[in-house]
Amino acid sequence: VVVDITAQRAAEERERAVLADAVATNLKFRAFFEQGALFAGIMDVDGTIIEPNRLSWEGSGFTRDQIVDKPFWDGPWWTPSPALVRQVQDASVRAAQGELVRMELPYYVADGTARLVDLSIIPIKDEGGRVIFLAPTGSDITNRKRAEEALGRKVEEMQTLLDTLPIGVFIAHDPEARLITGNPAAHRLLRTRSPNLSKTADPDERPMHFRVCRNGVEVPPNELPVQRAARGEVVQDMELDDVFDDGMVLHTIMSAAPLYDEQGHVRGAVASVLDVTDRKRAEEALREADRRKDEFLATLSHELRNPLAPLLNGLHLMRMATDDAATMDRARTMMERQLAQLVRLVDDLLDVSRISQGKLELRKARVDLASVLNSAVETSRFLIDEMGHTLEVTMPDEPVYLDADLTRLAQVFMNLLNNAAKYSDRGGRIRLVAKRVEREIVVSVRDTGIGIAADQLPQIFEVFSQVTRSLERSRGGLGIGLSLVRRLLQMHGGTIEARSEGPGHGSEFVVRLPVEVQAPAPPARVLPELEHPDASFRILVVDDNRDSADSLSMMLGILGNKTQTAYDGEEAARAAAAFQPHVILLDIGLPKLNGYETCRRIREQPGGRDVVIVAQTGWGQEEDRKRSREAGFDHHMVKPIDPSALVALLSGLSAKNGGNGGVPQ
Ligand code: ADP
Repeated sequence: VVVDITAQRAAEERERAVLADAVATNLKFRAFFEQGALFAGIMDVDGTIIEPNRLSWEGSGFTRDQIVDKPFWDGPWWTPSPALVRQVQDASVRAAQGELVRMELPYYVADGTARLVDLSIIPIKDEGGRVIFLAPTGSDITNRKRAEEALGRKVEEMQTLLDTLPIGVFIAHDPEARLITGNPAAHRLLRTRSPNLSKTADPDERPMHFRVCRNGVEVPPNELPVQRAARGEVVQDMELDDVFDDGMVLHTIMSAAPLYDEQGHVRGAVASVLDVTDRKRAEEALREADRRKDEFLATLSHELRNPLAPLLNGLHLMRMATDDAATMDRARTMMERQLAQLVRLVDDLLDVSRISQGKLELRKARVDLASVLNSAVETSRFLIDEMGHTLEVTMPDEPVYLDADLTRLAQVFMNLLNNAAKYSDRGGRIRLVAKRVEREIVVSVRDTGIGIAADQLPQIFEVFSQVTRSLERSRGGLGIGLSLVRRLLQMHGGTIEARSEGPGHGSEFVVRLPVEVQAPAPPARVLPELEHPDASFRILVVDDNRDSADSLSMMLGILGNKTQTAYDGEEAARAAAAFQPHVILLDIGLPKLNGYETCRRIREQPGGRDVVIVAQTGWGQEEDRKRSREAGFDHHMVKPIDPSALVALLSGLSAKNGGNGGVPQ
């Protein structure tokens, strides 16, 4: 029997080929299944793992047996955390119902460390849509997650930095720098709240228009740092001014640098803007103060020289007219006046410097406004009369008491009255009106003088400020009077305001001071009359300014004392030993041996304990007094020594010692 099996063979061959093909395909799938970079497996709809790929167990350090034939959620990856087990179980159930579940989960590897997996459970369905098995797949995303988190932190840090940075930062997001955003400081600088700072922004949100200038010249838009950076240039520390349409000017220092894309093309730019307006202003103020100081020095030398010529003339006159009592008298009166002027200048100077160093102390007491104003009027009377002005004074009906330093407050009104007299042409009218307004006293000093231009009004209280700058037109003064006035008033809790209708229309200065409301204090103690000392002393006068020493010595001689002079510290110590004075008037700033040292040395000499040593110095602060006390001085007098104070001191000494007989021997 011959059977033709060709067809059968062919069929068998075909079948074998199909099988081989199937096996080959299956092997390919297997290889893919095993060698892919994903965790993968096949599990039953009830959650039992049938076939895990190698990576899924070996990759986590487990064995295949720990995984196969067990529910997926009982796998060793989740068991350390019951919550995780529940989550995986729930996901598996949902997948079995046909849902593709995807989630990021922590999982545990064999050594117990936790990692992160991006897990999907894919429901595999037949043609009827019935789920026939489930395919869990996953990939380890621990490293990616960590990098993402690190990046997130960096971004957050940078964001916080940008948000709080006092420097404006702008970012141009395109090479043409059309879209620009900025940090909060940038919005503040450009006076807008919208993050979009571009010219293309909504007109309502766009920053106020401003011109960018360099040294006063507008910078063309394409030359601005951001635009230059967007062309690939790095711009460093460019000084620019933003001049806003409303007149505000912002001084800035700008820098900018390009941003690149992966191909190295410029994709935008960053720019930083540092606001240096305050610094610029401070610099300008310093320059202005420096200029005022220079001007002041010029005025000062001028003002100090002014009285010198009449003083010299006076001296010549006195020498020439010794017999002519009337001329002598006139010369002396003139010299006294000029000297008073000099002393006042120097006093004002010292006061200003004391106030600015916070060293001026007020001796406040209950004082009557009338005595303050009377004292001021008395001092200014001469100048007012000399200029031929009339002065009207109106006082409140009731007496007004202030808690004040009488001398200082009198100085305030004297300054105002003197200014009114100085800055009025001859024959002017000055009115001083004091009015009580509730708990304040308001004193107005008004003149019919040259007036003050409106733009000068705010400045006249600044130290060294003078409206008339040229020396020729100067009416005498250093430009410190009003600054002193204002500060003294501030120290009294008061204020001052200047008013003027303009040049030629006179000026008015209005002072307000708080009033003391209690009942008047008992009358002040009357000072005892000054007496001529009835004792004659041996007095040593020590000063390196010979004229000063000699004239003081002469004066004391005329008063009946025996005097000697010394011009430096060493000489003073020798003279003290030889002359055995009762009183030594000792200057502090001395050559060779300063006054403190000289005083100590004299105290150590025989008899040196009993001598009365008086410091005479230019420094009258409490600190200076303390220092001289510590060095062994008995008294402290501020130069120039007021002769009547010296006489009072000497009288005190003779009284203490019981008249002439009791003078220390
Ligand atoms: P000065 O020593 O120059 O008088 P002040 O501080 O007293 O200095 O005054 C400052 C400036 O204010 C003066 O130089 C003057 O230009 C102006 N001024 C002060 N008082 C008057 C006034 N009553 N009328 C016009 N100008 C005045």
